[in-house]
Amino acid sequence: MKRAKLYKNARRSVIATLGISCILVASSGHTQDSNSDTEEWLKNNSSGKSEAWRDSWPEVEQLKTVKVSQNIHLVHGVGGTVAVYAAAEGTLLVDSGHFRVLESRLYPAVNDIAKDKPVRYIVNTHGHGDHGAGNTHYIGLGAVAISHSSVPNEYTNAPPHYPSLPPEGLPAITFNDKMTLYFDERIEMVHVPYGHSKGDIVVYFNEQNVMHTGDIFIKSGYVSVAGMYKNPKGSTLGLIEAQKIALAFGDENTKYITGHSRGVVVGREELERDHQMLVTVVGRIKKGIEAGKTLEQIKATKPTREFDSAYVWPGMTAERTVENYYYGIVGDPPPSKRRFM
Ligand SMILES: [Zn+2]
Repeated sequence: MKRAKLYKNARRSVIATLGISCILVASSGHTQDSNSDTEEWLKNNSSGKSEAWRDSWPEVEQLKTVKVSQNIHLVHGVGGTVAVYAAAEGTLLVDSGHFRVLESRLYPAVNDIAKDKPVRYIVNTHGHGDHGAGNTHYIGLGAVAISHSSVPNEYTNAPPHYPSLPPEGLPAITFNDKMTLYFDERIEMVHVPYGHSKGDIVVYFNEQNVMHTGDIFIKSGYVSVAGMYKNPKGSTLGLIEAQKIALAFGDENTKYITGHSRGVVVGREELERDHQMLVTVVGRIKKGIEAGKTLEQIKATKPTREFDSAYVWPGMTAERTVENYYYGIVGDPPPSKRRFM
């Protein structure tokens, strides 16, 4: 059965080098972030709104480590979920955390799991700052970061509530469509359509049967569409397609780590449910648009009604979710409706 799955995935994937372009990044010595730098940055860069948003995350003060499979753990705290894959040849991280928790929590947690195996690779699922803040630290220690080709630019031009990554923290290897890394096992990285962001990829560990979905899925939460951009036309439907690709990879035994996992690993059934919720909500909004309704009229129909109790979170209230998906269908929200998420 495992062989059959591998073969199925092999047919779907194109081997690494086809889509790769390399960006040479000047190397630097070890760079140590510090809490005082973080506090200084917060003072100078946080608007009241973004700070309230950030502090409202319920898991800010917690960090959880969960064993997912033989060689993979997830580390979850504020910001994106980090997957730590400890292989015989070294350690690979999928994403590298949020700047607020690096020194105090993420690095010690990774050390506990990786033991004496150095971090050799970081795979960034996308270019949002809560998924790549630890890059600089690990690259300084000899790791190589890999991502979709749009990600270095996104990390360089971060929105107000995340610090931009310096050049030495950017991915050195980028690809456009697909890439396969053989690092003790076959690890497939696949770019998915423009939904949550321009550079979303899903990362699949074939032998462990584990997938990190990045932010195209959030455990028990509405996913934002094109969060840092102008909601280009089609991004809402892009998110639906992106989720379909993630679901197509696995089987009934696949374990999924979502971009913000609440410290929980989910199975396919649960992701299918989240996907159906998205399809239902977007279907209602789309129908309203096709009937010539305005955004306000569509909001009044409460397209998210039966899902709100389970899926609302501080960054995506019911109202913001409808606005976000609406503009991801019609395109280009007015400046007052653009969100940094
Ligand atoms: Zn994101």
